[in-house]
Amino acid sequence: MDVNDIENVAVLGAGNMGHGITEVVAMAGYSVTMRDVEKEFIEDGYESIEWSLQKLAEKDRLGESPETVLDRIETTVDLADAVSDADLVIEAAPEQLDLKRDIFGDLDELTPEDAVLASNTSSLSITQIAEATERPDQVVGMHFFNPPVKMDLVEVIYGEETTDATAETAYRFVEAIDKTPIYVRKDVNGFVVNSVLGPFMDEPAWMVSNGNATIQQADAAMVHRRGYPMGPFELADLTGLDVGYHVRNEAGRPIPPVLQEKVDAEDLGRKTGRGYYDYEEGDGPDYDPADGEDFDTLQVEARMANEAAKLIGDDVATADAVDTGMRLGAGFPEGPCRRADKIGLDAVLEKLESLHEETGADRFDPADYLVTLVESGATGRDAGEGFYEYETDGTRDYQYLNHDLDDGVLTVELDRPERLNALSEDLLGEIDHLLSNVDIDDVRCVVFEGAGDRAFSAGADIGGFADATPTDFMDVTPAFETVHEFDRPTLAKVDGFCLGAGLELALACDLRLATEGSEFGSPEIGLGLIPGGGGTQRLLRMLGETRAKELVFRGNRIDAERAEEWGLINRCVPEEEFDDVVAEFVDDLVSGPPIALKVAKTVMNEGGEVALDAGLAMESQGFGLLMGTEDVREGTAAFREDRDPEFEGN
Ligand code: NAD
Repeated sequence: MDVNDIENVAVLGAGNMGHGITEVVAMAGYSVTMRDVEKEFIEDGYESIEWSLQKLAEKDRLGESPETVLDRIETTVDLADAVSDADLVIEAAPEQLDLKRDIFGDLDELTPEDAVLASNTSSLSITQIAEATERPDQVVGMHFFNPPVKMDLVEVIYGEETTDATAETAYRFVEAIDKTPIYVRKDVNGFVVNSVLGPFMDEPAWMVSNGNATIQQADAAMVHRRGYPMGPFELADLTGLDVGYHVRNEAGRPIPPVLQEKVDAEDLGRKTGRGYYDYEEGDGPDYDPADGEDFDTLQVEARMANEAAKLIGDDVATADAVDTGMRLGAGFPEGPCRRADKIGLDAVLEKLESLHEETGADRFDPADYLVTLVESGATGRDAGEGFYEYETDGTRDYQYLNHDLDDGVLTVELDRPERLNALSEDLLGEIDHLLSNVDIDDVRCVVFEGAGDRAFSAGADIGGFADATPTDFMDVTPAFETVHEFDRPTLAKVDGFCLGAGLELALACDLRLATEGSEFGSPEIGLGLIPGGGGTQRLLRMLGETRAKELVFRGNRIDAERAEEWGLINRCVPEEEFDDVVAEFVDDLVSGPPIALKVAKTVMNEGGEVALDAGLAMESQGFGLLMGTEDVREGTAAFREDRDPEFEGN
């Protein structure tokens, strides 16, 4: 089955996952039949889809009406009805092997011969499920994350017999429904994301059990020093302690005593009102940033890197797939492989070896692949090679931005949609590097935009602040200045949140266009900070003191209409007209005379800082300079001949 031949999809199960998968598949334009065993389960699932589509429509995130999407969804309790003309079946029934094997046995009888049969299981073996059919080569894992509408990642898992053709169809299908697939090439327990998440939860539990840390210390350190979206104990409370307990038991791994105690006491997390934190009598997680100071974060991150190394060494996944999986599936600020390359793989290995020696515990056994890397000198970023290769010749693979140069327009997309395109130090470094190294002769203008449909950029990535010293921040990050001083006009295309450092990036651009639903603000004051990327100064110059101080002091948000009224942006445009308006601006910039635009930019940037007569002097100097250019001759000739000029930048 080729992905282009997929028209009808069947989803089995209308529960948490089944209804969400049905929704995203229908949103992508496929006809879907959702099947459950009882009518009422289907009705509940269908209502959840209606509710969710309505929410998306209200937020302008559905390109068509909810009814149009719903029209693509059929429901039934009859399995044969659901699957007899399905090109792809996605099973999302309860997590029981026998049940799933029964279902796949039936599918083997009822589906067209060439149908791809996928399971959304989180923890069962794809191979064992596939064995229930006569066509295990057409069975594949398709592991969505909860909730499917929001979570971008899908793991595509090979069972032992799965062919490349089947896995590729599943992979392409995931792309076709606008999600990001990663290949998990072997049917290992936990696949990729849960395997690497294991040590994130497990190691702090051992450290607490052994009296080497407290729960608050661990959570505070991982969140405030290392930038994870949640602490390991906080996360365990959310997912349910029994779930983690069960997974460890199934995998035959020893249980940390602190977890055993909680499970014995039936304190299973949020759902029982108490877990590691108290949600009934207390307020839940009660750690402060300062609590994390003495916690050994390397002990946890070294184990995650080791787990990643095992997966890579065993050909289960590439470093890139592991990192993408952890960023999109677990909300990690960066992938464990990138991070380990920065820490230094030699330091990671040393940590594991010394802990192994000290405790004798198997969990610190270094992966062969990690040892091989270190022994071959591939110790990470500083060595030019680790999990990844790092270019040393000035070219670079960007991790957090996409760029494209087409007909003079350099489009730079901030690509961390899972973090609303938050500007991390790495991302800012990449912007700086790209603009500093691009061949300026090929560029006529630059457009910045945010990936995903929610944000230009919602701010700075504040995880990691607690580990920095004040002097780390004393220099203005060069990226903002590089953008501001770039020799070509720059434009920020804002669709969604444009906050904090994201606003500062937009302010560093020459022009700003935004959709009506966009929001602007400088929330730094709420963190006890001030804007640190030029925000206070550029807002002051752009808006005047009254409005600038309102934004900076109150830390509130303003909508795009007000932003336009205040002169913060050039235009506030309805969503449906946005691309056209941007194209009109870009056309003018691209076809404009490059030297004159550069001179105009320079004298206007610098003129804003000096007294009027000095500014006028700069202007005349610039004017004089332009008089001798080919572009002026072309411009005046075109004017006389009543045609469009073609400026070459000479
Ligand atoms: P759920 O209990 O919410 O839904 C399962 C649904 O399947 C129920 O409505 C049930 O009535 C129905 N069902 C039972 N037998 C069926 C059959 N023979 N045919 C069709 N439907 C049947 O469970 P869930 O959370 O949606 O999980 C479903 C699957 O997705 C499991 O394999 C689970 O491991 C996996 N998964 C869950 C999550 C999560 O966070 N919930 C995340 C990823 C994957």
